Amino acid sequence: MKLCLILFLSLFSTIAVGQYTVNSVPNPKESGLLGYVSNPDGILSADEAGTIDNICRQIEEQDSFQVAFVILQSIGSEVPKDFAGQLFNEWKVGHAGRDDGLLVLFVMDQRRIEFETGYGTETILPDYQCVLIQQDYMVPFFRDNEYPEGLKAGAQAIQRDLRGQIVDRHAARSRETEQRDYDLQLEAESRNRTRNLIISLIAWHAIGLSIFMIVLLVVRFRNDPYKKYKAINYFALWIWAVLFPITHIFVVIFARKSRQRYRDMIRFSGKTGEIMRKLSENDEDEYLSRGQITEELVKSVDYDVWITDKSDDVLVLAYRPLFTKYSTCPKCHFKTYFKAYDRQIVAPSYSSSGRGERKHECANCKHVVRKTYSIPRLRRTNRTSGSGGWVSSGGSSGGFSGGGSWGGGSSGGGGGGSSW
Ligand SMILES: [Zn+2]
Repeated sequence: MKLCLILFLSLFSTIAVGQYTVNSVPNPKESGLLGYVSNPDGILSADEAGTIDNICRQIEEQDSFQVAFVILQSIGSEVPKDFAGQLFNEWKVGHAGRDDGLLVLFVMDQRRIEFETGYGTETILPDYQCVLIQQDYMVPFFRDNEYPEGLKAGAQAIQRDLRGQIVDRHAARSRETEQRDYDLQLEAESRNRTRNLIISLIAWHAIGLSIFMIVLLVVRFRNDPYKKYKAINYFALWIWAVLFPITHIFVVIFARKSRQRYRDMIRFSGKTGEIMRKLSENDEDEYLSRGQITEELVKSVDYDVWITDKSDDVLVLAYRPLFTKYSTCPKCHFKTYFKAYDRQIVAPSYSSSGRGERKHECANCKHVVRKTYSIPRLRRTNRTSGSGGWVSSGGSSGGFSGGGSWGGGSSGGGGGGSSW
């Protein structure tokens, strides 16, 4: 048991020692042993590391590019591309302004080689060029487990490709500012969208209020309270408050109060000019026909009966709700006709059509209409299944404060990688 624990602990500590994070990779500029190569696991011998370090030193002396080689056993489950980008920006490889850095990351356990280029280096070594160097000079050696040879051949190829090259400051700058411009553009677009939305909302409510103002004018110039009622009645629907939220909540409330006021407004007889009074629901029935009483019962129409004191003028006013399930009966013509049912008698199948029956009846005269109709046969539908898309994005962000003496360059995610 004790032995197991010791074995486990020693195994664990081996893994932990051989596994690096962006912050724990020894920075060759800090350790002071070699200027360009980080080889903490000893995958390269001191001589081999020295050779690559010399190549990198020559590159910087001759052509100013800063090239870092990072040769690691493991970075755990980290993605080499992300790791390279983060390490690049942590160390700030390359000179500030020119962004002429290149970080070469070798990860033994993932069998992966990654190049991370600065904005400036990217103009000389585009992504495809990085992959070509790996494929032509490095991967063939790596496949034969000849890692020092592959890394050296890669360093030499990088040196050849960078020889005599000068980073076009403008190009490097523009590559770097491209991302920033893009971000600013997105920000501006989002601001514009918000502004346009607000303008549209204001315009929309202005339209809604204008419509209501026109109706108010119409109402004002109508003398008959019944006509006033009808004009404003349309604005008593809550749908207006949905179409024009906030403003029309008040419009609807106002319309509802107004129409009640117009309905109760004092009336004068058209014949005698005498004042009329409204009968109560109980008293009005003797002035209504049987059909009208049925309409009141089913609430398809509400009637007000106005009468003069001498009963020499009777005014019957109909108030219809805007929505009702009752329609006009084809026989007695009262608004008491409704659909009693609509049902399937024979179910449709894939081979034959079905039948349905619809029954309408009148609550007033009991008139009944039955209609049968055919239901189309079923169709087989092909349902297509949606496929999810993968969106991948690259790019590493700068802004880390590295204490090393690399030049302060930054990378926008350029480079490439190969596996073997
Ligand atoms: Zn009827």
